[in-house]
Amino acid sequence: MIITKTQLGEITVENGVITAVDPAKTGPNIALPGLVDLHTHLREPGREDAETVESGSRAAALGGFTAVCAMANTSPVADTAGVVEQVWRLGREAGLVDVQPIGAVTVGLAGEQLAELGAMADSAARVRVFSDDGHCVHDPRLMRRALEYVKAFDGVIAQHAEEPRLTTGAQMNEGAVAARLGLTGWPAVAEEAIIARDVLLAGHVGARLHICHVSTAGSVELIRWAKSKGWRVTAEVTPHHLLLTEDRATQYDPVFKVNPPLRTETDVLALREGLLDGTIDCVATDHAPHSVEDKECEWAYARPGMLGLETALAIVVQTMGPRWDRIAEWMSAAPARIAALSGHGTPLEVGQPANIAIFDPGVRWTVDPTALASRSRNTPYAGMELRGRIEATYLRGEPTVLNGKATR
Ligand SMILES: [Zn+2]
Repeated sequence: MIITKTQLGEITVENGVITAVDPAKTGPNIALPGLVDLHTHLREPGREDAETVESGSRAAALGGFTAVCAMANTSPVADTAGVVEQVWRLGREAGLVDVQPIGAVTVGLAGEQLAELGAMADSAARVRVFSDDGHCVHDPRLMRRALEYVKAFDGVIAQHAEEPRLTTGAQMNEGAVAARLGLTGWPAVAEEAIIARDVLLAGHVGARLHICHVSTAGSVELIRWAKSKGWRVTAEVTPHHLLLTEDRATQYDPVFKVNPPLRTETDVLALREGLLDGTIDCVATDHAPHSVEDKECEWAYARPGMLGLETALAIVVQTMGPRWDRIAEWMSAAPARIAALSGHGTPLEVGQPANIAIFDPGVRWTVDPTALASRSRNTPYAGMELRGRIEATYLRGEPTVLNGKATR
């Protein structure tokens, strides 16, 4: 089966594997290895009104993803082999992307007692990434034990870096804008203090640490330093932190409320620089669907988080430029490596699995929240014109998206 002509040439796929790439027959579309998201909230089980494994998988496929890592803050929390296997099975049934569950670090995300990390690792879901995302593992002794535990099977702890004692009641980035709006600030130091502590712990233990949604210039500096020590630290940045700043809060539109908050222009530029120089390894969406009741209310009561899967690639191209080789690294190879996902993130070469995203870089489209596949509407890009859109996505050679539409 010939897929299409791309910048690499004409790609042929048979039995789920790339069998030919003919560089003599090129076309305008961009072929990328199927994208991999390290940080997706699918909300099932528990909040199927906001998203399901199936609706989130469809949104992911439409965004060019072939694998997503599902965060553990569901209800019940994914802190046992039973729950991670349930999410994994739902992903297989939907069949649109590979859904790799992330396990909670602590029971109920409560930060008091380690969850059954070994049982989740040994389960059918073969969990390798553990995170209390939404909450910080703030007890340093527990964090150390978690790092020691996952080292045995080369797992990784993905930390939501937020010192909770410094962000009580926080509503947006701490600074001049928060002061003017009269909103309680979320200071950069609350993120940086935890990153500083945890890179030291990771270095001490010799285990793998991943920093979720890095949002400040100071965090980039700390991670750069930790990497210079040779410690096993990786980091992600979200598309929204690469583009948007705290100024979006001035209209009190809760669609721009997110954790960590949108920061300053200086932070945005430092994050782009960190991604370019390899300090930040990858882009992850932190796709966080919320129901209308939870989001379209007064700023103070709105849940933090925004949709990301269907717009991620266009935002990354807009902010970082058409650096296709780097984008393949940031959005496919690096996250697949960090999550130890075999069969994803591999180059588009003969003999490799046919996990492929085809991006049409020329098309212009306006983001319409009601037209998204997600069950929720909380995209910060509503009404914005984006350039470039996923034309097709193939999961092991099977089209999950064709002509910009999900196949199921
Ligand atoms: Zn988080």
